[in-house]
Amino acid sequence: ESLGSDSVPSKGGQAAAALKVAHSPRNNLISEAWSPSSWTSKPIKQDVTYENRDAVQKALAKLERLPPIVTPTEICKLKKSLRDVALGKAFLLQGGDCAELFDYCEPNAIESKIKLLLQMSLVLIYGANRPVVRIARIAGQFAKPRSSPTEVYQGREIPSFRGDNINGYDPEERNPDPERLVYAYFHSAATMNYIRAELSSGIADLHSPLDWELGHVRDERIKAKYERIVGSITDSLRFMRTVGADSAAGGLETVDLYTSHEGLLLEYEQSLTRQLEKPETARRRKSLFPPSQVLTNGHEASEADPNTGWYNTSAHFLWIGDRTRQLDGAHVEYFRGLENPIGIKVGPSMDPGELVRLLDIVNPNYEIGKVTLITRYGSSKISGLLAGHIQAVQKSPHKDSVIWQCDPMHGNTRSTPSGIKTRHFQDILSEVSDALLIHREQGSFLGGVHLELTGEAVTECVGGSEGLEESDLEKRYTTFCDPRLNEKQALELAFLVAEHYKN
Ligand code: PEP
Ligand code: MN
Repeated sequence: ESLGSDSVPSKGGQAAAALKVAHSPRNNLISEAWSPSSWTSKPIKQDVTYENRDAVQKALAKLERLPPIVTPTEICKLKKSLRDVALGKAFLLQGGDCAELFDYCEPNAIESKIKLLLQMSLVLIYGANRPVVRIARIAGQFAKPRSSPTEVYQGREIPSFRGDNINGYDPEERNPDPERLVYAYFHSAATMNYIRAELSSGIADLHSPLDWELGHVRDERIKAKYERIVGSITDSLRFMRTVGADSAAGGLETVDLYTSHEGLLLEYEQSLTRQLEKPETARRRKSLFPPSQVLTNGHEASEADPNTGWYNTSAHFLWIGDRTRQLDGAHVEYFRGLENPIGIKVGPSMDPGELVRLLDIVNPNYEIGKVTLITRYGSSKISGLLAGHIQAVQKSPHKDSVIWQCDPMHGNTRSTPSGIKTRHFQDILSEVSDALLIHREQGSFLGGVHLELTGEAVTECVGGSEGLEESDLEKRYTTFCDPRLNEKQALELAFLVAEHYKN
């Protein structure tokens, strides 16, 4: 998506009036009581206007009854791992499609993405010499913020495609359809189910050889370099097998893979936000009672209960997009009440002081690893902006609690002369390299990367050792939103980041 944002009028005044109760006269942004619906009293960007509100209510009522897609136990496990990332003891790899389609809910697409993330993570473990936390943009990454509400299709102005959970890419299906909210849940659940099934059936079993095919690398010197890295990784795995370090306790049979998406469509997110017992409380109660009982359906805020929390059960990790991160806006209000670890996209228009105020709102207790700052400036802008953002956070009490993650994709989108949206591998690599260096210079460190990628052999980004050129783009350009790294480019980026650490 290109830069820019739409200003959409705020939601229903009724809910707004009902919730404006605990407003402090000093107008402190965080003084009001939070509930899963308190966001409805705030101005909202990128809102969806449905023609048939009754159908929306029906869809939401259905969603509110459906079981969680992920659980507090899993969310807490991820939170613990992200704490390690914030402390410099682990690295965070996050990646997947820009816009996930319902059609991607099929075995090959899911498998190839899991395998690619696994391979990249092995390369990064080798390079950064620390464990890698894997989060996929999958099982719910449907809704897309758009810079314009309409686009021109074959000379006709039609509503923009806003993601499979809102409308269809087919020009005849551009009206928002509330039934898509329910389809979104079932596609997320089916995808999540297949990920769990594959992981428990050995897709990530490091005893089975991985396909490290490097035939596409044209430059013999670069190829030899990558082969050395692969050699090191396979030697290490073989050694562990030989000495028996890969027994059940060694954990080579499977890995953790978490899910994430942009929390854009707040009505959907609210419907899957549940007040649930915190895992530590559940453990203390032993097995006397059924675990993770739903205590309320999320309509009324209950008394503060330290044993429970509000969990978004649609994904382990959610992030706020660069277009919807206004301090007094609906999205920030919704996010500040969640137990989940969250991300915030930080683009060129973020003011350093605003960044700190945003952290004050979403992480008032300075929980370590709770917030991942996903910086995305563009390769030509990062050197003028990142240091200022780091310094502002360093001067604040959030200094040691944030994770700094580099998204080298979203500031580097450009159009070819014939109007195809693309990204250059060199720009992507350059932004990650600069992020690594600038963090080092500032006495900080890069905690992870956030990428748009696919396990398939698409031709959407140019460059990389396969030598893709602009004239190749039309061959397999299948994205419905932003251009993604293909499997070779993504793995190559992991090799190059790994090398950075070794130097
Ligand atoms: C995205 O991650 O697909 C996205 C829309 O990013 P941003 O909010 O940073 O533009
Ligand atoms: Mn994108």
